[in-house]
Amino acid sequence: MTRQQRADTVLRMLGELYPDPPIPLLHRDPYTLLVSVVLSAQCTDKAVNSVTPSLWKLADNPRAMSRVDERDILAVIRCLGLAPQKAKAIRGLSQMLVNEHGGKVPASFKALEELPGVGHKTASVVMSQAFGIPAFPVDTHIHRLAQRWGLTSGKNVVQTEADLKKLFPRETWNLVHLQIIYYGREHCTARGCDGTACGICRTLYPTRRKPVTTKK
Ligand code: SF4
Repeated sequence: MTRQQRADTVLRMLGELYPDPPIPLLHRDPYTLLVSVVLSAQCTDKAVNSVTPSLWKLADNPRAMSRVDERDILAVIRCLGLAPQKAKAIRGLSQMLVNEHGGKVPASFKALEELPGVGHKTASVVMSQAFGIPAFPVDTHIHRLAQRWGLTSGKNVVQTEADLKKLFPRETWNLVHLQIIYYGREHCTARGCDGTACGICRTLYPTRRKPVTTKK
């Protein structure tokens, strides 16, 4: 099977498994999604969803959040990893949204990536899930699966994103990145695997019998 044939097979099988995957982070609008994605660094979506209702009671828009003391934000999100950095980023990005973007989340990679605490992956999630603009956010889980499915030989998420964008039609990017996340969570852990445990790997590599490893 060629790499493109593997991608086509993955697309078909994921479409059957997850025809309409929901966005895992609970949110109301682009701003609450942006803040939730910032909070999700090195945390589970479930943990983020457990604190955001309290955070929205404090403030659920850039103007209100920019007036909240950083210590009060920290008190609400304290149970999450990297909480002090995240509290600082949330206040900082809220102020920047007010000062430079009229209190609105900009639908632009460049403008998003200039916000404190917002990197390319976070900007990609917001562009994709808040604005419906095709993007392919690649986290470590998608990176791992893309390697295990033979869709990339990239040694980092930048190369993996470029490879996946070439293999999957642009109009499927927003859907397929979510589908891969769901598949990874349900089937493919970060631990070692002999590459025969799940249907997609068995279909792509029917004769594979050696351990599957992931390059960082
Ligand atoms: S067979 Fe192993 S490597 Fe392949 S998707 Fe399943 S758990 Fe992941």
